[in-house]
Amino acid sequence: MREHVEVLAHLGARVSRVRRPEELAAVDGLVIPGGESSVIDKLARAFDLRAPVVAAIRAGLPVYGTCAGLILLADRLRDGIAGQVTFGGLDIAVRRNAFGSQAESFEADLDVPVLGDPPVSAAFIRAPVVEEVGAATPLAALPDGRVVAVEQGPLLATSFHPEVSGETRFHARFLRNVRAAA
Ligand code: GLN
Repeated sequence: MREHVEVLAHLGARVSRVRRPEELAAVDGLVIPGGESSVIDKLARAFDLRAPVVAAIRAGLPVYGTCAGLILLADRLRDGIAGQVTFGGLDIAVRRNAFGSQAESFEADLDVPVLGDPPVSAAFIRAPVVEEVGAATPLAALPDGRVVAVEQGPLLATSFHPEVSGETRFHARFLRNVRAAA
């Protein structure tokens, strides 16, 4: 979370935290960070944020989701815990914890054609993968072909964390979506 705030502030954005529906209504874009998607889902429901977030996504709010955030933006979830739901918005199927325990966390240099050179240094932490891209556009894949970044309209999502490796181009792309929607 702190890393997202730092990257966005560095890029000139005014950043605030969203915990309540009034706070969501006040922002022009939303970052859903990593963490544990089932816990974020539970908290969103407990704090009456789920319905407003779903409505905002439907209304076209630009969102950038990393890792758990990608899971929460997926229309279809595989390997969710019992009762876990997502906000949806991206027409993708996602598998949680797709790398198993032998490779829970790793870093990879990823070619992301829409971002140009140099490759993105990507930190994967108990990361999900996108198993079906549906109407979304894949932006990056691992060497084995598994999709790890997608976009669909104002929604952008990566199964890795660019914010921990000093990478700013995904956040810049998100802010471009925010300006375009304003
Ligand atoms: N495995 C976590 C989940 O299912 C995501 C991990 C992360 O956000 N770094 O939500």
